[in-house]
Amino acid sequence: MFTAFLIKYAEIGVKGRNRYMFEDALVDQIRFALEKVEGEFKIRKTQGRIYVDAVSEFDFDETVEALKKVFGISGICPMIYVEDEGFEKLSGTIVDYIGKVYPEKNKTFKVFARRARKNYPMSSMEINCELGGVILDAYPEMKVDVHNPEIELSVEIREKIYIYSETIPGPGGMPVGTGGKAMLLLSGGIDSPVAGYMISKRGVKLEATYFHAPPYTSERAKQKVVDLAKYVSAYAGPMNLHVINFTDIQLAIYEKCPHDELTIIMRRYMMRIAEMIARETGCLGLVTGESIGQVASQTMQSLISTNEVCELPVYRPLIAFDKQDIVDISEKINTYETSIQPFEDCCTIFVAKHPVTKPNVNVIRGHEKNLEDVIDGLVQTALDTREIIEIK
Ligand code: ATP
Ligand code: MG
Repeated sequence: MFTAFLIKYAEIGVKGRNRYMFEDALVDQIRFALEKVEGEFKIRKTQGRIYVDAVSEFDFDETVEALKKVFGISGICPMIYVEDEGFEKLSGTIVDYIGKVYPEKNKTFKVFARRARKNYPMSSMEINCELGGVILDAYPEMKVDVHNPEIELSVEIREKIYIYSETIPGPGGMPVGTGGKAMLLLSGGIDSPVAGYMISKRGVKLEATYFHAPPYTSERAKQKVVDLAKYVSAYAGPMNLHVINFTDIQLAIYEKCPHDELTIIMRRYMMRIAEMIARETGCLGLVTGESIGQVASQTMQSLISTNEVCELPVYRPLIAFDKQDIVDISEKINTYETSIQPFEDCCTIFVAKHPVTKPNVNVIRGHEKNLEDVIDGLVQTALDTREIIEIK
């Protein structure tokens, strides 16, 4: 039935030049989202509107699902176009439209006509009244309600006539690409994919880093992170995943530092390395899945220690979220089932029985001095030997 979609977006705060940037980014993201959908589409930007036209057969549900993942879209209106072949013809089309879209006829409605083309022989008011009458004749169970109708049938007279009446809610947010780029520290857990999703909802493009510790962490643990990155990229767009071999750094820390500080020191090196890659790739901040008090390494005292090693801002969108709230989002974005697969990650293997919960930064810095002779070389090797996986 439907052959196109009108894409609605919130325009608050996007004026002038920013508005073009906003619209162009939105068009890019829609294009990316629809690449995976069966069917061919054309995306048009005209007169402050964005339309998606199907130019082949397409799967309606799949298309709507894809559009629901494009940040910046506030509503998706399935639509049909018809040529202007006179009012008789239009009336027939409208009756057919209502017949097909609303099997249940016991509803209130109003017709909302707009003329972008002023040479149409009827005024908007006349179109409303006439089409209202046509609908009532065809479906006597329906009733007009101009104030609070269940169905608002838009009829827009443009070069063609556009007809739509349903708005499927979009995800909101800002189009990815309008907010700069950030480096996501992506592990195989529940939290970091959700953190990435949330930051990208504000229009931020992502780059990701995963710290892998073979043979302590398996190929399957890495594959799990690649899978999670794919789920996040369904919203966040394409991204590069930098896989860092962290084993030698972890072993050095294990050998030379107190075991109750392992996790904190390890996390400090993760932040340092992620920041180096962030700078190299034009990222303006780091993103983690940390949440206050969730584990020993996420107490406020621990966060001082992990925070102080970077200069770029560290964004922690989950900082005040309860675990259940995070789980709810991970279910919504489809990452939960993958996140709970039981593959060890590098934090679980080298973790101490009783990690410090209130690390003292000065003490930590002191113990890191034990690594002085080896660490720069190890970090450089880790950077040089990283694998970059394109996620799309
Ligand atoms: P997650 O569910 O995201 O793994 P977590 O509750 O397990 O989080 P930690 O293991 O303490 O918490 O990690 C805190 C944050 O550090 C993670 O959210 C993630 O951003 C980052 N991080 C932890 N381990 C890794 C890793 N192996 N690679 C990349 N980032 C990591
Ligand atoms: Mg983890």
